Amino acid sequence: MAESANQGYEVTASKYRPKTFDELAGQEFVVSTLKNSLQSGHIAHAYLFSGPRGCGKTSAARILARSLNCEKGPAQGPCGVCDNCRAISRGAGMDVLEIDGASNNSVNDVRQIKDEVLFPPQAGRYKIYIIDEVHMLSGSAFNALLKTIEEPPPYIVFIFATTELHKVPATIKSRCQQFNFRLIPIETIQGILKKVCGEMGITAEDDALFWIARESTGSMRDAFTLFDQVVSFSAGSIRSDLIREKLGITGLEKLNALADACAANDAPGAFALTGEILDSGVAIEQFVIDLAGYYRSLLLLKNGITRESLLGYRPALFSAKALETFDSIRLEQALELLLDCYRDIRYSVSPRFELETAVSKLSWLSRWISPTELGEAVENARSVFGNAGVSAARQVQQKPAASAPAVREMPAPAPTANVANTAPAPRQSTGNGRSLSDEFKRMLAAKGNGTSDDASGDEEDVPLWDSAVNKTHEKTENPSQVENVLSVIPGTVIE
Ligand SMILES: [Zn+2]
Repeated sequence: MAESANQGYEVTASKYRPKTFDELAGQEFVVSTLKNSLQSGHIAHAYLFSGPRGCGKTSAARILARSLNCEKGPAQGPCGVCDNCRAISRGAGMDVLEIDGASNNSVNDVRQIKDEVLFPPQAGRYKIYIIDEVHMLSGSAFNALLKTIEEPPPYIVFIFATTELHKVPATIKSRCQQFNFRLIPIETIQGILKKVCGEMGITAEDDALFWIARESTGSMRDAFTLFDQVVSFSAGSIRSDLIREKLGITGLEKLNALADACAANDAPGAFALTGEILDSGVAIEQFVIDLAGYYRSLLLLKNGITRESLLGYRPALFSAKALETFDSIRLEQALELLLDCYRDIRYSVSPRFELETAVSKLSWLSRWISPTELGEAVENARSVFGNAGVSAARQVQQKPAASAPAVREMPAPAPTANVANTAPAPRQSTGNGRSLSDEFKRMLAAKGNGTSDDASGDEEDVPLWDSAVNKTHEKTENPSQVENVLSVIPGTVIE
């Protein structure tokens, strides 16, 4: 009983294999070019279809073959009802020969083809050879083929398909009309899955179908295979939570919670969530992949990219707190350390330790400082402490005539000039994270105000610092005024 039931089952990928050019998803350029050449009757001796797996190369080859031999063709495509069309669909067409290049790759296999091409087609106009994975042919097999594809009998058409175009010799490529197939956009795959669900009487959440489409990375066949797997445990209703549970995927809610904990510097919370996620059956590698994908999406969002197909989810679904807390620099760092973590996992004594170390680092990410920021802060420190030091020295020496330029006495070599050029840089901080420079200025301001850093009322951030530094920069050309400016800096004597 089980066997007979199984015999009736056809995987979705072959059931929904495109049968006309219009059904070929995501390959508009290829389709329009092939249609035009069929219409104008410019049929090449050899076609070379290249592109990633599962994007429709073999389907396109079969559609082209049927168009060429259709009793009503070859104008716009196969009619699908004539004897030739139906025979080719069943794989019974005598004039269309499909050869797997991987298992028929020797020079003898090609010699057999060379002998066969001398016999004209039996039922159709053309005798068509579809050679899949043509890059697997041996060098001598390619050489043997060369002459045949250059000057074949007029009724012969070769259609080669390959996923690895670079392995096809240039001598072959130059004798073929080439078509590059592209990855199918996620939205297109999602739309097809939705249509299939409708025809199969299955209800499906949009998010769940979107996830399947995203996971299949542009391959319709992969999408259908994953779809079949999901259908097998979904009992007529495809839901995101069920997919996560059955396939061990970290859900967005969990990732948001983890990112929230990290944004709040809550390491204990982050560890607890990590344990919870791993206990739910998510593999460590999968978890790192999901987490890296999450931080990548935050980084894209932070840079104004809102396309759902790139982010994986709708922008509004990501943690607002994490987006507010981390700027681009910190998100880059998070992504980098997660990618490192993934690389390290396979060499580690304990993948779990690697993951926990990464999570620990993520939980104090907001305090992480990039080398560039550190450099800026040091530069700021040099200018301020340098100027203050000079001024203090002057006060101690009590020299009445300030004729000598103060700049010369600075311990650091002309830092004011340097800072004057680079000064705007620290102010360009785009993110919400607080940089070391900001921190440093805040400290200085607090020191200047004596008791409280809020004492300056509605003036924002670090007014003392800004006015002091900016004025210093403006006035350095006139050394006699430097002292006036420096007096603005609170507590002129700074150790
Ligand atoms: Zn037909």
